[in-house]
Amino acid sequence: MVEKYSFKNYMEDVVVDVYREFYRGYPQYCNCPRCSADILVLALSKLKGRYAVSPEGEIFAKLSREDRQVRADALVMIIEAAEVVAKQPNHVRC
Ligand SMILES: [Zn+2]
Repeated sequence: MVEKYSFKNYMEDVVVDVYREFYRGYPQYCNCPRCSADILVLALSKLKGRYAVSPEGEIFAKLSREDRQVRADALVMIIEAAEVVAKQPNHVRC
């Protein structure tokens, strides 16, 4: 059962995708690997997980990635997270 049906939080894909657009539009925020990871983790912690079973889940994930409301919610949390990280960055240097 477990090995046959995997599942994933497709919000992860949405957040990574929205984050890529975000840092192009907001160059004032550091987007080094450490800050990017911190922002993604913070944003994901605040967003409700959206789980789907694969492979059907993969199709659902692609559809949902296009969902404007889901993306808008993700962007709000990414901006908040970027603010938090910018105030106390964990990177050694950028
Ligand atoms: Zn950084």
